[in-house]
Amino acid sequence: MPWRKPWIDPSSVPDAAVLRERLERRAYEVWISEIMLQQTRVATVIDYWNKWMAKWPTIHDLAAAEPDEVLAAWRGLGYYSRATRIHEASKIVCADEDMQGLLPGEVEKLQAHIPGVGRYTAGAISAICFGRPAPMVDGNVLRVLSRQLGLLGDVKTDKAVIDLLWGAATALVEAVAQDAEQLSTGDDGHALSDRPGRWGQGLMELGATICTPNPNCSGCPISSSCCAYGEGLKLATDTDGPSKSKTSTPRAIIPDIEDACTLCQAFEEFAVLDDAGQKPSETAKAPLQKQTSLQSFFFASTKDKKTTSSPPDDAACMSVITNHAKKFPLKVVKKAVREEQTLVCAIRRGDGHYLIHKRPGKGLLAGLWEFPSSILSDPSDAQPKSRKQIATRYVHSVLGLAAGDKRLKHVGELGSVPWLFSHLKLTMHVQLFSVKDIDSASAPTVTGTSSGSRWSNDVEGESMGTGMRKCWSLVNEAMDMAE
Ligand code: SF4
Repeated sequence: MPWRKPWIDPSSVPDAAVLRERLERRAYEVWISEIMLQQTRVATVIDYWNKWMAKWPTIHDLAAAEPDEVLAAWRGLGYYSRATRIHEASKIVCADEDMQGLLPGEVEKLQAHIPGVGRYTAGAISAICFGRPAPMVDGNVLRVLSRQLGLLGDVKTDKAVIDLLWGAATALVEAVAQDAEQLSTGDDGHALSDRPGRWGQGLMELGATICTPNPNCSGCPISSSCCAYGEGLKLATDTDGPSKSKTSTPRAIIPDIEDACTLCQAFEEFAVLDDAGQKPSETAKAPLQKQTSLQSFFFASTKDKKTTSSPPDDAACMSVITNHAKKFPLKVVKKAVREEQTLVCAIRRGDGHYLIHKRPGKGLLAGLWEFPSSILSDPSDAQPKSRKQIATRYVHSVLGLAAGDKRLKHVGELGSVPWLFSHLKLTMHVQLFSVKDIDSASAPTVTGTSSGSRWSNDVEGESMGTGMRKCWSLVNEAMDMAE
């Protein structure tokens, strides 16, 4: 990954101006990579990151860029508000008298002063670039730690569970930082080293490659400290044998109800949900049993601990272990994704210009350009004939034409483009219209927009979301065929 570079040890750069310049560049690189990596795969991000850095090598270059240029560079990465926030933040950092282009090294300041930087990104910048013992906890790390601690909880929405895991990550990185062979000291007296960054990235890497949703426990370098592994091994080596244990829960008997973990859910009720969040058949149900607490895990007999660290050698045994580990963290049934259908109306003027309008500055696809679109309020209107009528009425009103005005013609419905956002399943029905003899000097205001409309003869070059761009491809193909 091109953004992974050796840590800059401040004590190895005696010239303060040179150090500042190098830190400024490094912090900027780490920041951009971390924002791009949110919701996007590493393999995709590498190319975007390289192009971004070639175009805007420093934060000052980015701050001076045009908003549309930034959106265009982000095209295809999705969640476009990230690009807008990065751009806004770069201007703030460059204009600020204290920062003058250099991101702060402290987690608290990063979160307080930089738009779009939450505690994960702040931790990553602070640890990787500035060498501070800050935790960085992404989804992969939440999974690794919930298995290491044997915490069967909802790591997405249960605040107590999330706080506990962040607390564990903080304690770990602070301990690891103490372990560093060479420490530098920051302006505020804090010990700095490469350890926090390497540790945090190592933990994330482990979650991305080994402790995945379907873990490879036999190849895991930290199985000896893993509670889920230990519980699985106990199941597998139980005198009843692995075959009976595959759908069971750990058999450790809780000596006292007060010793039960108040954060962990019972296995019967929750852990039997499979990866799709479904409950398997009744026969697979395990007896209700709470996990033992962290306290009882840590104070378990040495005999148990020895069992945990001795690697099993047969495949059946390992299968029981990984099946048990897969139960962590708690699987939560996903909310149904909202479905919506919309009419995307490409209105072509006689001279080949198309009407486009800009989406609002906040919310979904913020600031991007699109063809005028109207949501179908009634799903029963989702038949081609109704869609044509509704789209025609809508375009008449957009252009301020009276019903039946012959200057407007519905050319046809070109197809339907399905598009999936994290919370929304959208189907875009692309309608092509032609209009002639209308005022070409001004563009009509598209209902519901406040950011402006205009006629464009270069739709290809406009900053549009990938879904809208697919709609444009249908229009382009239709025009090519017509010529
Ligand atoms: S032993 Fe298995 S469950 Fe535990 S951390 Fe390693 S891969 Fe994850």
